[in-house]
Amino acid sequence: RFITFEGGEGAGKSTQAKRLATWLEGQGRNVLLTREPGGSPGAEEIRKLLVQGATDRWDPMTETLLHFAARRDHLERVIRPALAAGQWVLSDRFADSTLAYQGYGHGVDRDFIALLEKAVVGSQRPDLTLILDLPVAQGLERAGARRGPETRYEDMAQAFHERLRQGFLAIAAQEPRRCRVIDATASLDAVQAKLRAAMTEAFP
Ligand code: C5P
Repeated sequence: RFITFEGGEGAGKSTQAKRLATWLEGQGRNVLLTREPGGSPGAEEIRKLLVQGATDRWDPMTETLLHFAARRDHLERVIRPALAAGQWVLSDRFADSTLAYQGYGHGVDRDFIALLEKAVVGSQRPDLTLILDLPVAQGLERAGARRGPETRYEDMAQAFHERLRQGFLAIAAQEPRRCRVIDATASLDAVQAKLRAAMTEAFP
């Protein structure tokens, strides 16, 4: 099984993904928790290029290509082998983030992104995508509380974050079978409970 977590800044994806992985392991599943951009040694190198430096370091199309280069490495070296070995792969972000951030957020042609996704990801699409949704102001407030060196994107204007939130919601509306929108304004425990319910429903 291949499960992805998506959402904007400060939605709590990483915390929730970790807890969900522990829960699945408790049920005797063999779980691989990974993340994007990154997830393999090569892709983590590319991540450094993406998340550090000035906001305008890359033009949006270059940024899109870097994300897909990282994704290809992650997929070939880590995700595909893990799925083949019967592991449950949980990824903190995947291709929907590129469509939301670079497509809806930065205005890169969405058909171009879809084309890249088809070429790079092909049939290896997630079985389930959990989209953590919350109002932009609340997300930025949470993200601001944990500022580290990876602030390149968090410094973008509020309007950018609004566009990508709408992007994630549009993706969910387009693919309701694969995607579940989870209200992430609630407490950590309440959000985790909703995620577990979505998992149980998707994989009885
Ligand atoms: O998930 P995480 O917050 O660790 O992602 C690292 C950074 O990369 C975030 O600030 C996120 O907004 C950004 N990002 C991006 N485009 C993507 C994926 C992530 O701008 N396609």
